[in-house]
Amino acid sequence: MEGRRMSATVLVVEDHPTNMKLVTMLLSSAGHTVLQASTALQGIALAKANLPDLILMDIQLPDMDGLTAIHQLKSEATTMHIPIVALTAFAMKGDQEKAFAAGCDGYITKPIRYRDFLNQIEKLIAKHNGQPHGH
Ligand code: MN
Repeated sequence: MEGRRMSATVLVVEDHPTNMKLVTMLLSSAGHTVLQASTALQGIALAKANLPDLILMDIQLPDMDGLTAIHQLKSEATTMHIPIVALTAFAMKGDQEKAFAAGCDGYITKPIRYRDFLNQIEKLIAKHNGQPHGH
């Protein structure tokens, strides 16, 4: 089933400038609007203020464990419905389970593989937009 690509607002919470640049470039070239945060607290604030369609959350952040940030966003009524994809620099055993336990909806291991990355993002955006209670 080939559908029209949906344009979404995606919040990227990532402290590494090179990864931020890459992810922003990929999302922008796919037609999405990108909001950027380099700390967990900044990310949580932007999520609440803008209610993005999707959040990409780095797990290793300077101010807060990304999993804690995910848990906070999934515990708040205003942000709990926003799909969150965890980003991690290394595939440590148990990381994926921890990420899903914290409430995230997807998991991407860095370095990012372009096609897999965009496929997963598009699926989550389409799924989210298909829900009747979207914002
Ligand atoms: Mn990081």
